Amino acid sequence: MSVATSNGYPVLCRVCGDRASGFHYGVHACEGCKGFFRRSIQHNVKYRICNKGDECLIMRINRNRCQYCRLKKCLSVGMSKDAVRLGRCPKKCKPQGTPVPSPPRSPHGDNQSNPEDSQMRMEQLILSIHEAQKKTSWDGGILGRWNENIQNKAYFDSNNNSALKSTVLLEVITNNFTPSITKIITFAKMIPGFTSLHKDDQVTLLKSASLEVLLVRISHWLNVKDDQFIFAKYKQMFSIVDFKGTPMYEIACDVLDFAAKFKAMQLTNCEVALFTCVILLSSDRAGLMLPHHVEELQLQVVAALQSQILLNHPLDRAVFPRLMTKLSDIRQFSVVNSDKMLNVFDGHQPS
Ligand SMILES: [Zn+2]
Ligand SMILES: [Zn+2]
Repeated sequence: MSVATSNGYPVLCRVCGDRASGFHYGVHACEGCKGFFRRSIQHNVKYRICNKGDECLIMRINRNRCQYCRLKKCLSVGMSKDAVRLGRCPKKCKPQGTPVPSPPRSPHGDNQSNPEDSQMRMEQLILSIHEAQKKTSWDGGILGRWNENIQNKAYFDSNNNSALKSTVLLEVITNNFTPSITKIITFAKMIPGFTSLHKDDQVTLLKSASLEVLLVRISHWLNVKDDQFIFAKYKQMFSIVDFKGTPMYEIACDVLDFAAKFKAMQLTNCEVALFTCVILLSSDRAGLMLPHHVEELQLQVVAALQSQILLNHPLDRAVFPRLMTKLSDIRQFSVVNSDKMLNVFDGHQPS
């Protein structure tokens, strides 16, 4: 089988991350995905709709599992139906940017292990973390007694005053703080290897990282535009002004500021999940008993995150380094705001 290369490195399939055999139907792809796409289009196959919410992550080890999501991925990375029908690539689907070279191998430390095995382990790690994220993701949370009113846009329009919005916002936030932290704890325990860390270290990591992970999760979930943000679930536009006069105002400014920059990177759900793992597995937290165990695990996740980013953002090589520089902003946020948060949620601190 032929393998496409770039500067001597094998090029990866944009669909599944396997080694690409060449440029097929508009993108670098492996023989498997090329054949799958050709058959799907030539025979106009209608695959059974995904039963996992159209969110399957397509990787080499599971690419045959959900054909529906695999075809969706083929199209979303730019495979061209016309190219299949015409039997050649129309001009507009010629290669754009540089092909994706294979990422550095995951640092498992065992040099003698075969690269195929370590690649497979990395894919398993990514799939497990993506699954953990789906099971613990934040969907806007619970609404408390505002449930009925808040979903009724007319209610806000007829009572259009900032004080009402402030009250609603504060209630939504306080009601959701503890459940959100609980979800983060559940998520952490599902990261492969986390529960094998020293018991005290698991607690230390969770205590020091929960707020940082929460910031990232909220930022990814929020829809921010011009200092306004939408709780899609509540069909309501809020603005930073609605926080004025509440004890959350300064924190909210910091969150929105961060969220706007974070959203601009257009990370996938899976990348955000991996990034929050990197935060959770920081080996420099004060008081860790066995920091090198934490670091070993973190390095695996960093390599996995880097491989996903290389694959998903082929035209912007700066995404990964830019994301890594966010780690210090996030820590800064936590240092500045944790005491303020605990005052607001008096009695709701994570345990
Ligand atoms: Zn492929
Ligand atoms: Zn699927």
